[in-house]
Amino acid sequence: MGRKILDLTGQKYGRLTVIEEVARKGYTRKWLCRCECGNETIVTQPNLRNGHTTSCGCVQREKTSKSNTADLTGKKFGKLKVVKRLGTAKNRKAVWLCKCECGNTTEVQSDKLLSGETTSCGCARVEAGKAVQQTLHEELTIDGVVVPYLTRKARSDNRSGVKGVSIITLKSGEKRYKAHITIKGKTIHLGTFETLEEAEQARKKAEEVYHKPYINKLKEEKRHDE
Ligand SMILES: [Zn+2]
Ligand SMILES: [Zn+2]
Repeated sequence: MGRKILDLTGQKYGRLTVIEEVARKGYTRKWLCRCECGNETIVTQPNLRNGHTTSCGCVQREKTSKSNTADLTGKKFGKLKVVKRLGTAKNRKAVWLCKCECGNTTEVQSDKLLSGETTSCGCARVEAGKAVQQTLHEELTIDGVVVPYLTRKARSDNRSGVKGVSIITLKSGEKRYKAHITIKGKTIHLGTFETLEEAEQARKKAEEVYHKPYINKLKEEKRHDE
């Protein structure tokens, strides 16, 4: 076919100038490039063309060294106040000892501080998490029933694989399937069955009776909120 094979030789992508194509393994074409800093590097064609790679890595290294040489002593980042530099992490980033408003001390890498990713010893996140859990819990409770618990999947230690169905083994070695349902802390037994399918059926019917009203009520309340 007349489709021309793309030639990137001589093209510029950021600091990179394409020198030549290199032998590829698999489908992705790769190009040898020279960086403005003098290094040579091999980059895949997609990474060049979508702008993902624009240097041999020197841009990233410069950024890192900038955040590494910055003196953060005494600076505040959220709840953290930087006490002193402790050294350099394995990834070559500066590590700082910080004191949190809650009284804890913690070690944080410079980029995590400068990017705003880390703003406490972890206590802020715990508090936020607790608050979210609390509101979720209140929002999803109908008449004292926490609705998500009703629709939760079977526990991993449930041998039958069906929620509310347990397997019992008779003296004869035969198996039976016992169905039950729990509502408001009370367990209602639905019977013992010869097959898992029958027990599952009984459980499903009971869900309609005991759980559905709560689930529907919650859905309705949500609709009103909107
Ligand atoms: Zn470079
Ligand atoms: Zn803290």
